[in-house]
Amino acid sequence: NFDRTPLIAGNWKMNMDHAQGIALLQKLAWTLKDAKHDFQRVEVAVFPPFTDLRSVQSLVEGDGLQIVYGAQDLSDQDSGAYTGDISGEFLAKLDCTYALVGHSERRTVHHESDELCRDKVRAAIRHNLTPMLCIGEGLDERQSGNHVAFTLEQLRGSLADLNEQELEGLVVAYEPVWAIGTGEVAGPEDAQEMAAAIREELGKLYSEDFAQATRILYGGSVKSSNVANILGGADVDGALVGGASLDAEEFAKIARFE
Ligand code: PEP
Repeated sequence: NFDRTPLIAGNWKMNMDHAQGIALLQKLAWTLKDAKHDFQRVEVAVFPPFTDLRSVQSLVEGDGLQIVYGAQDLSDQDSGAYTGDISGEFLAKLDCTYALVGHSERRTVHHESDELCRDKVRAAIRHNLTPMLCIGEGLDERQSGNHVAFTLEQLRGSLADLNEQELEGLVVAYEPVWAIGTGEVAGPEDAQEMAAAIREELGKLYSEDFAQATRILYGGSVKSSNVANILGGADVDGALVGGASLDAEEFAKIARFE
């Protein structure tokens, strides 16, 4: 009986300035309250841009919201001459719970390697942030049938040399790149196939208990109309939602996925 509380996470990407972010978060909080959302049963997290985090912290703490939040990225370094970067230390001071690591847009647009992702996972852990590691294949790997091998290779590379004590609480988000922001959704069987493969691999790399306790999310064009199907898979413990998380009512519906 491992506690894999389902997690519905909203990645706002580079949308919502700090005023818009506050309005969105307030509306989300009201909508969830109206729906009597049970946060113990389904955890709800948002990933705003860095520049919104201070305002998000004020609102969450001021209003006693149960919504948690994290950053979309972090530096692998803690401080110093790294212009434009944001350290885990800063994020921890803003009471972030999570840090996304290796989102496909970081891997593609910013050429982030598995090795850098591993260093970012390590940086998150150093500052008591829970890493949410994103992995997933592109269209070529999917079409050539190499998607499982490719994704597991990313998993191993992004966690190399870390032990299960360090990784306690880790969240893995399986996000097939061809399904992100495209309207294309992996079928429930595809999401389940990969989540099961990831869990099996975690069991080989670490202990079976660790594998069973780790939450594995699916991401890629999740909406209220498809979330229940996708989360039907026994190994799919939640969703990382991009576009649909920018609409408070739609995102709140996703959080009531049953
Ligand atoms: C994402 O950004 O992680 C994502 C899954 O985006 P979307 O839901 O828009 O496909």
